[in-house]
Amino acid sequence: MASETTGRNPPWTRDEIILALELYKQLKGAWPREGDSKVRALSEMLNRFWHAQGHEGSTLRNENGVKMKLMNLRAHDPLYAAKAGLKAGNRIEREVWDSFAGDFERLTGTAHAIRCAIDAGFNLGVKTADRELLEPGEVEASEGGLLTRMHHLRERSHKIIQTKKNDVLRRKGRLACEACGFDFGEKYGVRGEGFIECHHMKPLADLTETTITKLGDLALLCANCHRMIHAQRPWLTLEELVVLLKDV
Ligand SMILES: [Zn+2]
Ligand SMILES: [Zn+2]
Repeated sequence: MASETTGRNPPWTRDEIILALELYKQLKGAWPREGDSKVRALSEMLNRFWHAQGHEGSTLRNENGVKMKLMNLRAHDPLYAAKAGLKAGNRIEREVWDSFAGDFERLTGTAHAIRCAIDAGFNLGVKTADRELLEPGEVEASEGGLLTRMHHLRERSHKIIQTKKNDVLRRKGRLACEACGFDFGEKYGVRGEGFIECHHMKPLADLTETTITKLGDLALLCANCHRMIHAQRPWLTLEELVVLLKDV
């Protein structure tokens, strides 16, 4: 950790840019005044986020840094970009803008969930653990790394997965993919029996540290279908995956 306290500030994450976009929208195009309390609050929150991961420094997400990020976001705003001749650079900013700028409710809901995750200390170890939780070919959700991590931790909790499988087995007598019907036991015999993955269906913005996973929140999916949900942003819902399967 000590080595991370020196050197350049870490690049802004998707989570942070979502929080910055929320502030940008709250300001409704007005430029924050010197010492603006909302800018200070965001700066303090992001500092907590990074301090927990061993990053320090007077320039780390200070108020000026937050304002610069607001300026960067202006470059994606059609109301300003052309007028000011601003060049839109950052790919993640563009993606966050495209996903959330037109849907204030989704933006505030997601930002709220991210703030709760930071307050709950859910950021600890997120930097490396995030990548460890992603399977090859999977991408971080539009909602950012913290909520992605929360999603994966939930659907990989062995106890709830076993309870879900037992429940389906008892009711249906077999474990089949809810999207395509694939049955590992049928295809691979004894080796495949009891094998299936669980996907957590709750929208990521509804996940908090204290949310209890119910059996109905989980869908049984084969590895291929599950991977396809997480392979691109935005992640698909189960319904969208089923439609996609019908269309090809
Ligand atoms: Zn499937
Ligand atoms: Zn999943």
